[in-house]
Amino acid sequence: MEENIKLEYEPRNGWTCLDENTLKELEAFCEDYKRFLDDAKTERESTEVLVNTAKEAGFSDLNDYLCAKKKALPGTKLYAVNRGKSCAFIIIGKNDPVLGMNMLGAHIDAPRLDFKPKPIYEDSGYALAKTHYYGGIKKYQWVATPLALHGVVFLEGGRKVSVRIGEDESDPVLYITDLLPHLAQDQMVKNGYSLIGAEQLNVTLASRPVLDFEQCDKDGACCSNSDGCCEGEKKEEKSDKSVKKAVLKLLYDKYGICEKDFFRAEFEIVPAAKAKDVGIDRALVGAYAQDDRVCAYTGFRSLLDLKEIPEKTAVVYLSDKEEIGSVGNTGARSCWLENLCLELVSNYDPSYGMLELRRAMTATKFLSADVTAAFDPNFPEVSDKLNVAFASNGISFNKYTGSHGKSGASDASPEFISYVIDTLEKENIPWQLTEMGKVDIGGGGTIAQFMADLGMEVLDCGVPVLSMHSPFEVTSKADVYWTYRAYMAFIKA
Ligand code: MN
Ligand code: MN
Repeated sequence: MEENIKLEYEPRNGWTCLDENTLKELEAFCEDYKRFLDDAKTERESTEVLVNTAKEAGFSDLNDYLCAKKKALPGTKLYAVNRGKSCAFIIIGKNDPVLGMNMLGAHIDAPRLDFKPKPIYEDSGYALAKTHYYGGIKKYQWVATPLALHGVVFLEGGRKVSVRIGEDESDPVLYITDLLPHLAQDQMVKNGYSLIGAEQLNVTLASRPVLDFEQCDKDGACCSNSDGCCEGEKKEEKSDKSVKKAVLKLLYDKYGICEKDFFRAEFEIVPAAKAKDVGIDRALVGAYAQDDRVCAYTGFRSLLDLKEIPEKTAVVYLSDKEEIGSVGNTGARSCWLENLCLELVSNYDPSYGMLELRRAMTATKFLSADVTAAFDPNFPEVSDKLNVAFASNGISFNKYTGSHGKSGASDASPEFISYVIDTLEKENIPWQLTEMGKVDIGGGGTIAQFMADLGMEVLDCGVPVLSMHSPFEVTSKADVYWTYRAYMAFIKA
């Protein structure tokens, strides 16, 4: 037997494989990453921020090439946007795309609270907004914490207005109340699912009625009444001074939005907290929506920072609606990515069509870049310690996801896993081969299965996350950095 054969496998710690320069690079990368998390709290904002960054780095709109019937030569950097909520970044490789492309796909939607179509109402002196939660959340985590409102509304004629409240230092924040422990005897015996009900996730928007100084001057100290209205006032006048009316007036004055416009809007309530270093040694990043913006950002940067022209065309695809099953025309189950690939194939050779697209898809390698659960010492019972991902042990590969008997999983082939491991080991990148949680206690899915439907080789991999789907998720900076390096090694291979 050869002397240097290591019989046993122990994953390496991502911190201990760093040299001094790489540590500096890691720290700079994570500062950029945190800034991205603060700038991009919705799928629309993620698309906008990344497209702008790409444009600055010399990426052009794919549509410009298609409209001008201009061939994208090797090294051409392109982007494409799907309805403002999903996007792809491409570097054209030297090879014929029919020989296969290197693709990576992450998602940029995250669990949150959406406004209902008619959200605003008044109750007991408060203007509140009704929400409908999006994705898998623990509802009790969204109360008694500062929240922000992000969204867009398309006014008459399609004029777009963006709203962002709760992010600037000087901004107010929004809030959902929780019950004080003193009166929570009944609440505290409920289970986690019903501790806070979905219809209790009502956001406090405002509490000050319309202030009518002229009316007050005429009638003296009439506004000192508890309901803020004058004695003997007519009913219509009373409702004119309501808190709901006051908040609608504020929104109209600032954004030109009326109540009916909420129906042509997409308003999302997200945590107002900024990304922060976690731990005295600053080794972890805490922030909202690291599932899956950590893979989206590392994937994007792996393409952006690529120095050489790759042999194969490299594509980083960022999808929407993953958290609700990848449905809809911006989700990974839509034909948008397939159409994009068809454009790329026929741009390479105008005589190419569907047959060549099918061949290209079958020959394509795809990393389904999504997070996994990191081992949590506070909840050891949910993990098989032999197979769970540990934070700081590098990028985590999930051969399969799904639940119970691998239901809903795209089970990666050992041929492909072998290829990916070899690609990473050439660059000495730490990795771990894992699965999420013990068998039969839950599970989850990614976009892997939908990409596999197109005939590609697919493997799930990404950064292990603590407190996943909570308003403040935690990752290891070592994993963020090594995942970026792993994606780059794959993309250029
Ligand atoms: Mn995810
Ligand atoms: Mn998720």
